[in-house]
Amino acid sequence: MKKFKFLLIMAMLFFARVTFLEASKAGIAPERIQLIKEIQNRLNFSFQCEFSVFIGQTRKYATANSSGIIMIDSLFLQTADRSSIFFAIAHEYAHAYLQHDVRMLEQLLGTDPSHSGSSKLIEVRRQFEKEADGIAARKAKQMGFAIESLVDFILTSPDSEKGIPPENRVYSKPRERADYILAVYQSS
Ligand SMILES: [Zn+2]
Repeated sequence: MKKFKFLLIMAMLFFARVTFLEASKAGIAPERIQLIKEIQNRLNFSFQCEFSVFIGQTRKYATANSSGIIMIDSLFLQTADRSSIFFAIAHEYAHAYLQHDVRMLEQLLGTDPSHSGSSKLIEVRRQFEKEADGIAARKAKQMGFAIESLVDFILTSPDSEKGIPPENRVYSKPRERADYILAVYQSS
């Protein structure tokens, strides 16, 4: 069962990667493509890494894996402001750089279901999300991106975990999440 889960996740990562590489840039303003390249170059320099940002379709704003493939959602890219786009990409850089997906997988494979492992897994994910938010907030400050529009974005976007009890949430509630990001930004 564990082996099956592992293979399934590996297969998903593989297909996701193929999709990223074929993602179309059609309909994206050249200024936005340029923005992505600029953010990629600055973050690669800052993290001292060689990650690549692709444009594609994702149910989230952006995704990443530990091989350094970041994908930004094309609709989000076309509609969000520059600072929010920067934040979403920097947040994914933090996940990729710290290999959060590999660490989640290790956690998953090492989990004994009889020890109510799923709550521990959520706890680990929640901690990773907070860590990525904190790093992205510091990078935004360092690189001169504003934070106000991101805070507005978080507070006005629909809460993807609406109705889920706090102990089962991966992200803090929008107000708490925005306050944490703002606090890190202002104290950086
Ligand atoms: Zn995240």
